[in-house]
Amino acid sequence: GISAEKYVSREELGRATWLLLHTLAAQYPDRPSKQQKKDVTTLVDLMTRVYPCGECAEGFQAIVRDNAPSTGSGAQLRLWMCEAHNAVNQSLGKPEFNCNFVDARWGGVECEGETACSLFGGPRKR
Ligand code: FAD
Repeated sequence: GISAEKYVSREELGRATWLLLHTLAAQYPDRPSKQQKKDVTTLVDLMTRVYPCGECAEGFQAIVRDNAPSTGSGAQLRLWMCEAHNAVNQSLGKPEFNCNFVDARWGGVECEGETACSLFGGPRKR
């Protein structure tokens, strides 16, 4: 869980951020609007500049520069996010995650009711 310490470690910050990014990707629509594509590209771009660990932001910038976000569909974005996360894993000497299992690991936000608390029209059907 999230600790109640005043200061946050890089690890905890990273886990919280990946949770956000993979959950967003889990709910990203199969047929995104132009605006939704633009928004995700902007979000990723901002992460390379305002992520509150400068060294991490710099590393992520290099990763995104070589491989721009694939925002054309939910499946594309989920794979892109998994590969971007794997590029960070590699730079830290962590094991590679098998992206065939990304949908089994990240399923979107739990909600009471279909669309009450979710963006992009709710968790996609599983
Ligand atoms: P995490 O890497 O945080 O992953 C959380 C969970 O996601 C894992 O337990 C696993 O279930 C799942 N997972 C793992 N890989 C994947 C994948 N490829 N796709 C989908 N799910 C996956 N830390 C640094 O020390 N230096 C850095 O330069 C740095 N750069 C970062 C850049 C970004 C943009 C982000 C978001 C984080 C960065 N971090 C960095 C933090 C680092 O990535 C980890 O979050 C942190 O080290 C904690 O690692 P963890 O082993 O708990 O799992």
